[in-house]
Amino acid sequence: MHFRLWTGNRTTGVAVASSGFGVLRSQLLAIGVSAAALAVLYALRPMFSHSVYLFCAPVLLACAAYGGAGATLTAAVLLTVGGFTLDGMADLPLLERGVRAALFLALGLGVTAWVRALMAQRVAAAEIIADQAEREELLQASLEIVADALILIDDRGLIQSFSHPAERLFGWNAAEMVGQDINRLMPAHEGGALTGGAVGDDADVSGSYRKLTGLRKDGATFPMEVRVGEVTIASRRLLTMVVRDMTSIQEAERRSEELREQLTQVWSANSMGEMASVLAHELNQPLSAVANYLRAARNLIARLELEDDDLLDAVGRAGDQAVRAGEIIRTMRDLANRGGTLQKPESLSGMIGEVDFIIALMARDANVRLVYDLYKGEDTVVADRIQIQQLVVNLARNAIEAVTKYPNRQINISTRLEPEGQLVTTVEDSGPGIDASVAERLFQPLASTKPEGMGLGLSISSAIVENHKGRIWVEPSRLGGAAFSFVLARAGADGERSGESNSVRRR
Ligand code: ADP
Repeated sequence: MHFRLWTGNRTTGVAVASSGFGVLRSQLLAIGVSAAALAVLYALRPMFSHSVYLFCAPVLLACAAYGGAGATLTAAVLLTVGGFTLDGMADLPLLERGVRAALFLALGLGVTAWVRALMAQRVAAAEIIADQAEREELLQASLEIVADALILIDDRGLIQSFSHPAERLFGWNAAEMVGQDINRLMPAHEGGALTGGAVGDDADVSGSYRKLTGLRKDGATFPMEVRVGEVTIASRRLLTMVVRDMTSIQEAERRSEELREQLTQVWSANSMGEMASVLAHELNQPLSAVANYLRAARNLIARLELEDDDLLDAVGRAGDQAVRAGEIIRTMRDLANRGGTLQKPESLSGMIGEVDFIIALMARDANVRLVYDLYKGEDTVVADRIQIQQLVVNLARNAIEAVTKYPNRQINISTRLEPEGQLVTTVEDSGPGIDASVAERLFQPLASTKPEGMGLGLSISSAIVENHKGRIWVEPSRLGGAAFSFVLARAGADGERSGESNSVRRR
């Protein structure tokens, strides 16, 4: 779009008047007309012997009208001299001739001054008009680049102005819409939603904001957001309406919600697997111990040579069941791990960016300020994208939950490159920090201070980091709460982990 800034640089009447060609032309006009007039008066001298100047006056005015101040002055001088001469031919006494000539010259000078004043006014008016035109052009250009449609209506709901974006949005052109009722731009059931009573004398609609349905010329409807403002122009109250088409925004919101659901599903499927794995790991040990103790008890009972075979059988069967339980759990863990994890080169900030909408949504719901500071350089790591995203979401959720009870709510998510070529991701918060009761067992399963907490999030997180041969730790944050960090090797930093995708089975 061509877009010119207003510079205050104007083309003025003075410039035109002072152009050499213009001056020469008006002088020639004055000389020509004056000479012609004098010639005619000379010819008609017998008839108008003493009225020479009377007939010169229209010539003076013609010069004033078409030649400007310079031409008028020239004509006044020439006609005075000519009139003086003609009066001489008519034998007027010298004194009378002098007085008449002086009066005519005074009249000429007066007309010249008047013309000058008029011209100055015309130049000033032209400047104002040029100024206005430029402002209007600028305003139009500004309105053009504002994507939203702008509509002005009066207090009866009649459209006074309809911008180009409004024409594009509704399919009507301004000529068709100016003077029409604003309700024509909405389906019948929403008609009056904007003007119904709202535009009355004491209604204050300024700054209000509504979600309505728009109606295009072709009959199609679309969701729109209307911001209503109020202006008073020459004691006339007008409403400004800025209309935004919400179709694409709603579509983006729907898509984002869909993605969120998908990711949550993947997340929960994944966390079920991780949970099964962690539980299997944790329960397997006590079950093996039970089996061992039972075996020992059976041996002891056998050595005591008790007669009661039933007791031996019972203890033996208990041992078998413990072993069986162990097998079931092992099978379960194998099942959970069957898929293994797909690790391939991924951008760390890219992975974090993809879950931003989940974190941003959680932060928004809890009224928490979310700040990112991601390393902008090469940040490729070999990783299972879903797992790393699950890990970051986990840490962010914990951080958000930690700050909710505090007035100052902020979480920072940052990544940085360490000199050794490792990428550290930190999720920190302004919460209370780690409670002493869980500090020791933080990354172990079932350590939780939350009434509904399962205490699995951090143990799953640490399992994920382990899968990636990384490290996870917590320390006090400069925001006042906890700072959880995990480190991953940058791809290429060590030959083994760089390059092609590789599938790594979870332990
Ligand atoms: P859960 O969230 O179910 O309790 P986690 O393993 O995710 O399980 O967390 C374990 C415990 O660690 C939490 O109950 C909480 O006490 C503590 N914790 C985790 N993250 C934070 C944090 N950002 N600030 C303070 N405490 C935290």
